[in-house]
This record gives sequence, C-alpha cells and structure tokens, in this order.
Amino acid sequence: EQLANQIAAGEVVERPASVVKELIENSLDAGADRIEVEIVGGGTKLIRIIDNGEGMDGDDIFLCLERHGTSKIRNQEDLGAISTLGFRGEALPSIGSVSQLSISSRTYNSELGYRVELRYGTLVKSHETGCAVGTIIEIRNLFGNVPARRKFLRTTRTELGHIDEVIKNYSLVASDVSFVLRVDGRETINLSGSFNLIQRLAKIMHQPEEFFPIDFSTDGEHRVTGLLLAPEKVSPGSARLRVFVNGRAVKDRMIVHAVAEGMRGFLMKGKNPAGLILLEVPPEEMTLTFIRQNMKFVFAGLRRCTDWCKPGFLLPLGQSRA
Ligand code: ADP
Ligand code: MG
Repeated sequence: EQLANQIAAGEVVERPASVVKELIENSLDAGADRIEVEIVGGGTKLIRIIDNGEGMDGDDIFLCLERHGTSKIRNQEDLGAISTLGFRGEALPSIGSVSQLSISSRTYNSELGYRVELRYGTLVKSHETGCAVGTIIEIRNLFGNVPARRKFLRTTRTELGHIDEVIKNYSLVASDVSFVLRVDGRETINLSGSFNLIQRLAKIMHQPEEFFPIDFSTDGEHRVTGLLLAPEKVSPGSARLRVFVNGRAVKDRMIVHAVAEGMRGFLMKGKNPAGLILLEVPPEEMTLTFIRQNMKFVFAGLRRCTDWCKPGFLLPLGQSRA
C-alpha cells in the first residue's frame, strides 16, 4: 500500500507546483472562496494551503488519506459525468507518502476541528483541535524520503515560478475566488474575489485594464470567450497568451500557436497576441488530439471576431455583443 502510494506519487507529484495544483483543486471542489498558499524554500520546506471550504470531520480526514478515498465518486454513473476537478482520490495519499503531511479541518456543523499528522505515510498524531471552518494542509520536507526526486527539482526560483503560474491560472478560471500567495513570508499575489476578470488579468499581466472582450459560439456547444490585450498595447515579449480548454490551462504549444494564427490580421505585424482565451468544448471531446483537429473552428471563430475587434470597438465591461 505504501509502495503503491509512492508509485502514484511519482505520477501525481512531480514538483512542488503539482502539489499546489492538487490542493487548490481540492479547495475549489470544497467550495472555498478564499485560498491562501504559503511557500517556504521553493516548496520543499513548506507548502501550506488554507481554505474556507466545507471542511472535513475526523472520519473524512482518515478516509481521504486512503487510496481512492475520494468523496467525489458516489456511483458508477458519476464516473461518466465527473464535474468536480478531482476524481482519482490519489492526491493526498500520494503526497503524504513523500512528505510530512498535516491536515487540520473543521466543518460548519462542528465546534472543534480535527488534525492528523503523517510522517512519510505513517500516522504520527491525531487529535481534536480548534480551527476555523475550512481546511489547512501543510506539507513539509517534500521528497525528504526520496532523495532521487529531490535531486530532480530545479532551482528555488524555477519551482516558485511554476507555483506562481499555477495560482495565476486558477485565479483566472475561478475568478470569484480570492487567492493569496506568500513566499517566505512575503505576499507576492493578492487577488481579491471582488476583482473582475479584467482587473485580475491586468494585474497578473502587469498591463493596463484595456482588453477586447471576445465571446462567441458557433453552435452552442463550442464556445470561445476571452480578453485580448488591445493590439497597440502588446509589446513583444512583454505579455503572452494564456489558453484554457474547459477551464484547464493548456501548455500545448500547437494549440497556443493555432490560436495565435487565428488572430493574424487583428494584430500588428510582429506582435504576439496577449491575453486570455477560454475554449469550451463538450467534455468527451476534451483531448489534445481533438482540439488540434478542431482548431479550424477556433480559427474561423477568431477571424469572425476580428471584424469588430478594432480600436474604438472596445466593449464596456460586462456588455456582450449580440
Ligand atoms: P480527489 O480530489 O480525487 O477526490 P484527493 O486525494 O485530492 O482526491 O482528496 C481526497 C478527498 O479528500 C476529497 O475527495 C475530499 O473529500 C477530501 N478533501 C481533500 N482536500 C479537501 C479540502 N481542502 N476541503 C475539503 N475536503 C477535502
Ligand atoms: Mg483532488
């Protein structure tokens, strides 16, 4: 069992940023609207995530530490229609097998919270504790028992860059959730839940709040929305295009390139598109192969949108073109 967890950890937990990703997904699934992340030592010394979600009681905590102890699949049917972000029930046991993990959590119905502490997969402490409704998860000494993996990590700066990126990406899809990141005690991200998407994107990209909104759907099933930095504001290398498919950040260069291609004519020569593109496609089509094959759809759509994406055509916030 412990070995299985460590093997799974190899898949789920590649680096500190993958831990942050799994934990943020869990917090979002728990309905949190405020997520704070604290990092020390690039994530190898400490990753702490504090959320105000629905929390867990003692039984839930023990359950979530078991492999496939997910609360997100209730029957076979659910498997076909997964709407929550997590569904494998592997993240916490995997992370726990390669770190010193503690979970403190309290539900709304309970006066007291519960806390467990594990050391490389072995339970060392469990007791009631006072804490706010929600969950605090701490991961210390990531890969402390797997020196080979520890060695594989890059510089603190690089690892922090990946963490920063994960949080920024989630802040764009979960745009009504507050996100805070503290690195070695210093606050580096603070995005209030009251910021709208434009304000968030401007802050993340260090750009003025001047974006062209895009919103169209050809058939009701496929949809492209987004915010593109006003062409005259795009300076080479300063800002880039973030692409999401069904709420997930896409790193695939071909997709990003294809989207950029579709915007040719809209941008000035030599300038790279920058901003945010959100593609929505039916879940069963959400494979890279599918998306690549269907980039034509995106091309066509983006060409259409360029008709009105001209200076002077900037839509006021929240207003969409019929
Ligand atoms: P999965 O997300 O695939 O279900 P995880 O190992 O990531 O698997 O989490 C296991 C379970 O632990 C979740 O299904 C959920 O019930 C519970 N859990 C984890 N993190 C939190 C959290 N921050 N708040 C509430 N419940 C959580
Ligand atoms: Mg999960």
